[in-house]
Amino acid sequence: FPPLDGLGRLLPQAARRWPRRIALVTDERTLTFEELDQLASRVAHALSARGVRPGDRVALLSQNRWEWIVAYHGALRCGAVVNPLNVMLTGAELDYILGDSGAKVLLASGERLRAVGAALGSVPGLEQVISFDDADEPAATSFASLLASADAEPFEPVPVDPGSAACIAYTSGTTGHPKGAMQSHRSLVLNCAYTATMHVRTPEDVVVTALPSAHVYGNVVLNSTWMAGGRVVLMTRFDPEDAIRRIEQHGATMFEGVPAMYATMLATPALAGADLSTLTRSTVGGQTIAESVIESWETRTGAPLIELWGMTELSGLGSTHALYAPNVHGSIGVALPGNELRVVSTEDGVTECRPGEPGELVARGPLVTLGYYHDDAATAEAITPDGWLRTGDVATHDGAGRFFVVDRLKDMILTAGYNVYPAEIERVLIGHAGVALVAVGREPDEVKGEVAHAYVVPAPGSAPDAEELTGYCRQHLAAYKVPRAIHFVDQLPTTSSGKLMRRMLRRPDAAH
Ligand code: ATP
Ligand code: MG
Repeated sequence: FPPLDGLGRLLPQAARRWPRRIALVTDERTLTFEELDQLASRVAHALSARGVRPGDRVALLSQNRWEWIVAYHGALRCGAVVNPLNVMLTGAELDYILGDSGAKVLLASGERLRAVGAALGSVPGLEQVISFDDADEPAATSFASLLASADAEPFEPVPVDPGSAACIAYTSGTTGHPKGAMQSHRSLVLNCAYTATMHVRTPEDVVVTALPSAHVYGNVVLNSTWMAGGRVVLMTRFDPEDAIRRIEQHGATMFEGVPAMYATMLATPALAGADLSTLTRSTVGGQTIAESVIESWETRTGAPLIELWGMTELSGLGSTHALYAPNVHGSIGVALPGNELRVVSTEDGVTECRPGEPGELVARGPLVTLGYYHDDAATAEAITPDGWLRTGDVATHDGAGRFFVVDRLKDMILTAGYNVYPAEIERVLIGHAGVALVAVGREPDEVKGEVAHAYVVPAPGSAPDAEELTGYCRQHLAAYKVPRAIHFVDQLPTTSSGKLMRRMLRRPDAAH
């Protein structure tokens, strides 16, 4: 594994060990470790020739593509702080974030530049805009010309302090506005190294994923696989049939994604004839997952589906199962080495909960963020003086080091004095054959304060009715947890990484 000061050293090291092995397959290009490394070197030369100095912020904005990846590694190599941006941000949000991060250079796709271009004119400090596509934006240089004119010599990674910020990464914005978590060089390297070890990634691995590289989970998938010499087949966006096809075509050993990706693949008729026998394990995380989905995927592929839990504020994973440890379904596994996890009372935030007793999950150790960029108030709220990160997740533990996420604290529904967790209802409903996807949100209620409403995307070819699903809930849940109403919808609101955004759920009958 590379030394603690740098993911910037990952590609040079991998290129020495596995020069001709294929590291990355995208729709446009297939690149070996040597080629990836040389491209990142060129980017580093080009950026430093354009005045990027250690500590300067370099922002990245595009869907998954090889240019994004070599820009990320090139920027790290010259000591810059990378600032990956979520493609779903609007012009005004970008304007704000770029101004806040003080980015000197923005590298982006032509499509994103067209969508948000007008907002960029006014960002103070943003000196250069580089387009991954032909420079049809008057103010932008093309990435291709930048690469072509750059020095081809290897670029020696600039030494950095392992405890300093490598990346300002924004959270998914699932529960509110995205927050810019500062990730240290050390936390990124440790996270990828531990993930590689716990999942036993090897040079034989072929990983198919559609997770955005700009998101922590996607980032860990890329870099932990490369630390082990494996290959990543990177999809631009997720589509269940396309994902299944790629697993077959590339003889994938792993698929990695959020729960909704597994649920939709399992509901796709294309799954029936597919050969998924090359998969030796898959990973899932990002939000709570139903045991029925884990079991169906494991039965279908004959290989474990390893659950993991993570946060942007932890530079990736906070817990997962080691491949050879028993995979306890419904558990997010054990803390990553060197990282402590605890469940504490939501009342005082300190008293440790007994096994099985729900409380807030807190984390401490070298993975914890240096803080939210330019937001000391939010940092002080999130990290206690003795270093515990409040995750905002409700969890339990089993007394043997394994943890179980119940749901997010913010999403809890208080109905007639009872706490109801949407995830518990979702886990039940997804087990019904007529349900492809489900999300549960809250609605105000005059009598009970709040009640749960379920939003269901029916499985292809089936048309369950609300009464039947309500009856199914009654069989599996206490009466106060049964959703007051069930709405049938075509799709559910998601973040760019594919997580359900419960706060965006809208009743089909509601006035807009
Ligand atoms: P925001 O903080 O902006 O609302 P976010 O919390 O979704 O967005 P991320 O950092 O991408 O941003 O996600 C971390 C969160 O994802 C965790 O706090 C947790 O709620 C959820 N999560 C991740 N993995 C799991 C898992 N295996 N089971 C349950 N929840 C998970
Ligand atoms: Mg969060």
